[in-house]
Amino acid sequence: MANNPMANIPFLDLGAQVKELRAEIDESIARVLSSGWYLLGPELEAFESEWAVYTQSKHAIGVANGLEALHLCLRAFGIGVGDEVIVPSNTYIATWLAVSHAGATPVPVEPDEATYNLDPSRIEAAITPRTKAIMPVHLYGHPVDMDPVLEIARKYGLRVIEDAAQAHGAIYKDRKIGSHGDAVAWSFYPTKNLGALGDAGAITTNDEKLAQQFRVLRNYGSKVRYVCDVKGYNSRLEEIHAAVLRVKLRHLDDWNGRRYAIAKRYLEALSSMPLTLPVERAWGHHVYHLFVIRSPQRAELQKFLADQGVGTIIHYPIPPHEQTAYSELQLSPSSQPIAHRIHQEVLTLPAGPHLSTEQCQRVIETIGAFYSR
Ligand SMILES: *Cc1c(COP(=O)(O)O)cnc(C)c1O
Repeated sequence: MANNPMANIPFLDLGAQVKELRAEIDESIARVLSSGWYLLGPELEAFESEWAVYTQSKHAIGVANGLEALHLCLRAFGIGVGDEVIVPSNTYIATWLAVSHAGATPVPVEPDEATYNLDPSRIEAAITPRTKAIMPVHLYGHPVDMDPVLEIARKYGLRVIEDAAQAHGAIYKDRKIGSHGDAVAWSFYPTKNLGALGDAGAITTNDEKLAQQFRVLRNYGSKVRYVCDVKGYNSRLEEIHAAVLRVKLRHLDDWNGRRYAIAKRYLEALSSMPLTLPVERAWGHHVYHLFVIRSPQRAELQKFLADQGVGTIIHYPIPPHEQTAYSELQLSPSSQPIAHRIHQEVLTLPAGPHLSTEQCQRVIETIGAFYSR
């Protein structure tokens, strides 16, 4: 497809990922099939050690998906009915849903408009006697400014649960995302920077006791088979996914590097256009899970790109506080004005690791054509 300059440019080419690693992936799946062991086995154990090493954390615990990873973190900390958890107003709905599934109430805090991430200077105003935790989300692949978040958490005795579903490989002040907070939740949904061939997730932490709790919680509350210590869940990362994730993990830095190169190309070429472009703070390393631009003319721009065969997606069209699912909180659109505005203007360009230089160039030229009409 990349050979035909006029072919459509998909937002993300997941098929190309498998194609590149097909032989290795086939081999890893065959290994699981021959083993006859499908859950909580050697592939998961190996992936957990490798993921802990990669994220510079002491323990990694595989779970069923990213939402479950977040939810189990809240459960392990005993957060539930009557408790409040500080969440970003600008995030994917899963962050809020995890809080709700635990029985607690999400309390939104507005973002820093440049990084789109939780603004630490706004957190203290949202803390009440019911607040139990802060959930920073490293949105789009840019790390949250964690030091002030951790300082506030210490001051008020709050837990910090990071949503790192979009931040595989991101770095905050010389250390990988993975163990700044008390627990870090990961998703390996197929489109993430490290994605399985289906649903998968993990939690990383430096706390050994907590890690043990997660292992019990994910498997029916049992340490010993058929002995149930707590009301646990069925939330396990399957062997076949663990085996494939191990293959893809070996290529994560390479693929993140390709994303970074594409982002650099976009940043240079689009700087002269009337668009708001992503930033990368000096203290952080961005992994560009999503390359998000902002324009007051988003609808027209998206349509123009679509007409020229360039696929884009809006991350996200409706902020959590404006979703019907959260009508009970009675938060008006204007209660979170920054998140509201961001959601009206953001547009994500194709920037996956398999976007070719020619495709990237064509996206740039098409945007140029839009502004020189
Ligand atoms: C993808 C994502 C999740 C949820 O992950 P799943 O594996 O799909 O459950 C949570 N938070 C953010 C920010 C995400 O992007």
